[in-house]
Amino acid sequence: MPQVLITGANRGIGLALVQEYCQQQWQIIATCRHPEQAQALQQLAQAHSNISIEALNIGDNEQIAALAEHYRDLAIDVLISNAGIYGPKGYSLANLDFAAWQQVMDINVLAPAKLAQAFFPHLARADSGVFAALSSKVGSHTENTKGGGYIYRSSKAALNSVVKSLSNDWREHGIKTVSLHPGWVRTQMGGPHALIDASESARGLKQVIDSLQMSQSGGFYNYRAEHLPW
Ligand code: NDP
Repeated sequence: MPQVLITGANRGIGLALVQEYCQQQWQIIATCRHPEQAQALQQLAQAHSNISIEALNIGDNEQIAALAEHYRDLAIDVLISNAGIYGPKGYSLANLDFAAWQQVMDINVLAPAKLAQAFFPHLARADSGVFAALSSKVGSHTENTKGGGYIYRSSKAALNSVVKSLSNDWREHGIKTVSLHPGWVRTQMGGPHALIDASESARGLKQVIDSLQMSQSGGFYNYRAEHLPW
């Protein structure tokens, strides 16, 4: 059975990705900050023996390293860095919260980079490993016609840059990387007026990952496999 690791698996798009991979009989390491509070994920894991739940705060480098060590002999076919935060809303240039900005960068950029570093051996061990990062099209410079959104936009633009560098560094190891825009999704982050539900997004994201070619590695795609500009 192929192996996937998903961060932020307790709710939203992460939970929907667990459901999607579970239906297709993958072996799943589903990580979340507080497993004891992750009721929906716990129920799923009780019904499906192919789901292992692991505690992981992605902002804690030691926890990431310990998890990688715990699974040190495992080949991981797909690692989905899904967990992320939006940070403050409704601010202007005049009242930017720089401490909050730093925190968003820590979670949305540095943590995925730490995951990539720690789980490189596991991805290299797979026949054709994939590191997929949940980005956002608001991180695209081309899409940025309205201004504002300094914090979240810059974090996802920086994440895209990390994914691009990983693609070049890992090509010789046969590992592909991709930045994924999940659509505007009805989750806590996307809100109730978003356009699609998390299962539609997860279905599309899995298809993009499944069909990813080495020639597309380092690219930026949405859940419909449409290429997005930087
Ligand atoms: P949600 O806010 O619904 O869920 C976020 C997930 O990230 C939760 O599982 C949360 O866990 C987890 N998380 C946050 N911080 C940490 C941390 N330090 N350690 C571990 N887990 C953490 O967001 P979505 O499901 O909507 O978003 C998933 C990804 O998709 C994000 O990266 C987001 O930026 C991206 N995205 C979403 C869009 C949308 O429309 N929804 C659009 C574009 C991109 P906890 O419950 O513990 O807080």
